[in-house]
Amino acid sequence: MNIPVLKQLSENREFLYAVALILLIPSAFLANTYFFARGLNETFNTELTNKATLATTVIGSSLEDSIEDKDSLIKAVEEISKNSPEIEGLTILSFEEGKEVVLASDEEGQALSTDTVLLTKLAWTTGQPYTTQLKILNSEGKQVRQWQVSLPIIAEIENKKNDKKPVEREVVAVVNLKISGEKIDTLINKLERDSVIFTIITLFVVILLLLNHFKFFGYARLFRKLKEVDEMKDNFISLASHELRTPITALKGYSSLAIRNLQEGNTQGASQDMSKVSISAESINNLINDLLDVTRIEQKRLNLEVKEVDVIQSITEVVQELKIQADQKSLTLNYSLPQGRVFILADTQKLKQILVNLIGNSIKYTQKGSVNVSQKFTKSEIIIVIEDTGIGIPAEELPNLFGKFHRVRNTQTEKIQGTGLGLWITKQLVEFMNGKISVESIQNRGTKFSVRFPLKKS
Ligand code: ADP
Repeated sequence: MNIPVLKQLSENREFLYAVALILLIPSAFLANTYFFARGLNETFNTELTNKATLATTVIGSSLEDSIEDKDSLIKAVEEISKNSPEIEGLTILSFEEGKEVVLASDEEGQALSTDTVLLTKLAWTTGQPYTTQLKILNSEGKQVRQWQVSLPIIAEIENKKNDKKPVEREVVAVVNLKISGEKIDTLINKLERDSVIFTIITLFVVILLLLNHFKFFGYARLFRKLKEVDEMKDNFISLASHELRTPITALKGYSSLAIRNLQEGNTQGASQDMSKVSISAESINNLINDLLDVTRIEQKRLNLEVKEVDVIQSITEVVQELKIQADQKSLTLNYSLPQGRVFILADTQKLKQILVNLIGNSIKYTQKGSVNVSQKFTKSEIIIVIEDTGIGIPAEELPNLFGKFHRVRNTQTEKIQGTGLGLWITKQLVEFMNGKISVESIQNRGTKFSVRFPLKKS
């Protein structure tokens, strides 16, 4: 899988879904095995403890009669350990004058291990059986568990001190039995190992399946794109029907008028009609240019020729170009020209397009008063400010003002033509050139747009 594919996928919800599957399915398997193995372990623990206690009780009662006779005790122990392979060790201990004595054992060297002596002492003094779990190393050096039960053998013995009570019950020996948990540990380890292998295989299969299904993700993406394109098409159709109809109707009307005036020899009237035709053609041209800009921006095909630009010169030129429009509406268009030159990194044409859009809007949405263009400076930025005394923008419209196709629709704007694309394009262009745009407005008082660009460091 190459990197562009990964990048594309990361932009998709389907990719996240795939990642979630890759993580969730194996995690579910692992969690299942973990809880199963834990439960199994606990069950085995209880079962083995019971088994060890039961075995010790049985062995203990069978040895009770041989306690007095050491030879037959040793024989009995030999016999039991020979016939019970799961018994790891069987040791019968007793205490004489506080010292432990081995009566019989099949564990050479281990008969008096610390654990055995400790448990024997406990069982001897309390007369109760004790069970413990030990961790030992087996012949292969692996750690395995072992259960040890120490069971006291209580016998009736002659009481020489007390005549009234000739016999009393006393602990005469302690049977220590060790049962190995190796088989269970091996079983649980195998279960865990198998489960990890199974999880890895599952993960592999899930990844293979998802790889195979990436084409479906592609289709889903395509489907979403198609829906977007469809919405854009609807927008375009409604826009075209509204915005193109007016200039085309005007174009048709004025061109017929021009023809009639020419036929009647009224050349002055024909020339006035033709200038109206030209204005209508210009507005169609602007609309088409806006739409082309939207397409280029959306398809990331907009080529910027970024270089050092004298921003003051660009503002001056745009203000001069738009002065005619302002004059036609009897508006004052002021520009407070600073001293010297100020450079930013920008595309000259796009910078001018931004200024034309914003100053043009101010003229368009101002009925009387003025449009003022000025600039402020911070240490690292120039802030171009375009302020007007126009109709203003309702506060609730401000958050969506830079949205595509967004127009304020009220009685003040219904007669003013527009596509709702200008501010969206302006914002995109400003951001392409590392700038920021913001707006403040009070309805019926005026609007102020501020555009910030980083200054070119000299
Ligand atoms: P349009 O083609 O409709 O002018 P724009 O994207 O340039 O599209 O502007 C979006 C909307 O913002 C306009 O429809 C208008 O309602 C409002 N607007 C923009 N500039 C001004 C302004 N200077 N004064 C008042 N309203 C403005």
